[in-house]
Amino acid sequence: MKLYIECFHCAPVDGKIQKVGVEMQESALYEFTCSSGHESKIYITNPKYDILFEAGLQAISEGYYREAVFNFSASLERFYEYYMVALMLYSGNNYKDEDFQEIWKRLEKQSERQLGAFWMLYYGIFGKLPLFFDNKYLKEHGLRLYVKDNDPIYFRNIVTHQGHFPTYNQAVAYGEAINRYMYYLKTLHKKPLRQNSFTFYQSLSTAQHIMFFRIPRVAYVPGAPSRWSFPTFINDIWATHEGDYSEEYFVYKNLIDKFPLQS
Ligand SMILES: [Zn+2]
Repeated sequence: MKLYIECFHCAPVDGKIQKVGVEMQESALYEFTCSSGHESKIYITNPKYDILFEAGLQAISEGYYREAVFNFSASLERFYEYYMVALMLYSGNNYKDEDFQEIWKRLEKQSERQLGAFWMLYYGIFGKLPLFFDNKYLKEHGLRLYVKDNDPIYFRNIVTHQGHFPTYNQAVAYGEAINRYMYYLKTLHKKPLRQNSFTFYQSLSTAQHIMFFRIPRVAYVPGAPSRWSFPTFINDIWATHEGDYSEEYFVYKNLIDKFPLQS
């Protein structure tokens, strides 16, 4: 799977921007050379769930629907982790990332534990039930999965554990269900819990910042890698400023528009 990153040196030279296909990788530091010989080093600041979702979309466009489902599902799991950091910042308690990571070590190998932590944390902070990612959520939001009982958990399990080959429609619909679910979670809460505390939007962007700085990096010196947020499908549709959270804006650019379902 590749990210197609723009060469920033090309434009000043001949006015054209080249995109260079670079393999997706664990490190946030991407190094590449364009066909004109410009060498680039860039830190991609996108959160993990965002890059995984992009990998899911690429898998769909290349016809690998099982891989698309794996990537979408992994994207949601990493989103829960990111969201939990944001929830704790939003709570106004003294968040220390080293404490979070100390707890996380005990959760990171079991996604069910992570999900339990997310539900309880959500309930503890907002005092209401979280939006569960299940067939009830899909029904309420008019989403169809093209599987038995419209159940996303059942669907993920048969793909992951029973070797089920999803259809194009199933993979796209599953991605769209996750895309919308994450979007709704991100935009549910607009007001701060207390006076002078973070808004939820600020909590989310601070969480992204904190998680990016977990990655070991070289000190910033002139000529050292610059930071760049890669324009993925998700960070494009979700936008980076609060004003663009309207439903119209979102629906206009959703995944079904990008990959129309087959009749
Ligand atoms: Zn170049």
